[in-house]
Amino acid sequence: MQPAPNSLGLLPSGSDPVGEKHVCRQPPGDGYIRRWGTGGNPPPCLGDNDPKTTLVPGGLVVSYGPRTTIVRPPFIMEAPDRKDFPVPRIGSEQQLDRMAEKRTDREWLAQRIADPSSRFLLFSDLSLAIDSSEDRTGTRLRWLGTADIEKIGANPSDAYLLGCDATGAAIFALSLDPSQSIAVPGGIEALKPLVDLRTLAMQGALPPEDLSLAGMGRALSAWHAATRCCGRCGSHTRVRDAGWRRSCWSCGQEFYPRTDPAVIVLITDGERCLLGHHKRYAHKFYSTLAGFVEPGEDFEACVRREMREETGIVIGEVKYMASQPWPFPHLVMVGCWAQALTTDVELEEEELYDARWFTREEVHQMLDGEHPEQITVPGPHSIAHALIKSFADHQD
Ligand SMILES: [Zn+2]
Repeated sequence: MQPAPNSLGLLPSGSDPVGEKHVCRQPPGDGYIRRWGTGGNPPPCLGDNDPKTTLVPGGLVVSYGPRTTIVRPPFIMEAPDRKDFPVPRIGSEQQLDRMAEKRTDREWLAQRIADPSSRFLLFSDLSLAIDSSEDRTGTRLRWLGTADIEKIGANPSDAYLLGCDATGAAIFALSLDPSQSIAVPGGIEALKPLVDLRTLAMQGALPPEDLSLAGMGRALSAWHAATRCCGRCGSHTRVRDAGWRRSCWSCGQEFYPRTDPAVIVLITDGERCLLGHHKRYAHKFYSTLAGFVEPGEDFEACVRREMREETGIVIGEVKYMASQPWPFPHLVMVGCWAQALTTDVELEEEELYDARWFTREEVHQMLDGEHPEQITVPGPHSIAHALIKSFADHQD
């Protein structure tokens, strides 16, 4: 058989030359429910994570990959309009001109590094140098100048350019690894306190603008720390373009800072939302559920797969709300509302201790710190908080 002139030139092959198996995976017609598996499992293929739904008398048939389920009549998911969504402020404000066109301009970079108006954020082993009041109640970023960097035995030229602020001053991030941190005896001691940025973020201890800048520096530093060797030949890589590229000195392979997408999801059955208690969370802390996007997956398919894996809930409609960079280590969280087509929770016990449905009234109590079981939710800087709040505030 010859391919059609306008085809991709692919010929059918194997035991299923005309694709009957794909055809037989179509959802059943009205009133007839077929359970895959009784007559032979269809092969996995693209689209398995996308449930096919069909209305039948008395309910809705959801065909999810090789499984078919009948659920109660569907509800219409009344998600808030995106313009009404409380977008989290981390990374959402343009504070810097990233000056991408200057990253390869060595002369300009040398001038900026020597300029006394330039400011440096310092990370030691990915912990951030901050200024803190004596009683530890006030926290702000610690900004260093070129002279401060030299005093601890580090080289300001090793810093990564984050960009220029509204006054035109350059902002850099300098990341020291443990071996550099002891270059000058007592040098690193002078920089303390060095703190974990995630803890500051969860406590809401930094203003969102500061958290955004520090997060950008940390994400870039974490990527450099994990990309010192070439994944292709194993040789060392070197920093290029003021920290926005690395290249292998041996084979020339180039590497660019990566951002990993993950979905974070508010599941609702119309009246309630589903929140989970992760094994790594503090006692009685519940949040929206999240998961990494896998190769070959769009965001919607990822939401359906992850939520099914973690909670057993079958998801119908998925609606994108907002995104947020999350620098642990270098993620972008894609915030969605998701329509639950089923409500029975089957926990994925490797990760979750619990997942429960909460009414709007209970969610308001959690947000106000007045829940009778003292259940708490993430702080206001996170997109998880924005998703939970959007559910509490949104009335059908
Ligand atoms: Zn290489």
